[in-house]
Amino acid sequence: MTEEPIGMTCEQFQAQLSDLISSGDNLANHPHLQSCSRCSALLADLRTIAEAARQLLPVVEPPDELWEHIESALKQEESSSRGPDQTHL
Ligand SMILES: [Zn+2]
Repeated sequence: MTEEPIGMTCEQFQAQLSDLISSGDNLANHPHLQSCSRCSALLADLRTIAEAARQLLPVVEPPDELWEHIESALKQEESSSRGPDQTHL
């Protein structure tokens, strides 16, 4: 995290990410993605999850809530440490 990507920070980019995705723009051309491998990887993850969700759910147009849900799930995954204590079902 020593290099600041050009244009905007990762926080700013990720705040716009769901809007960018739902707008249908070609995100590969986004200047932030071209300078930030971290957000490129995040987008790849989102696409993988979205593909899986599309196959599981008979949803033609994924609602904005889906993206928010995916984003928050990713954030939880990043911040949560795997606790061996939580083994009860
Ligand atoms: Zn970034």
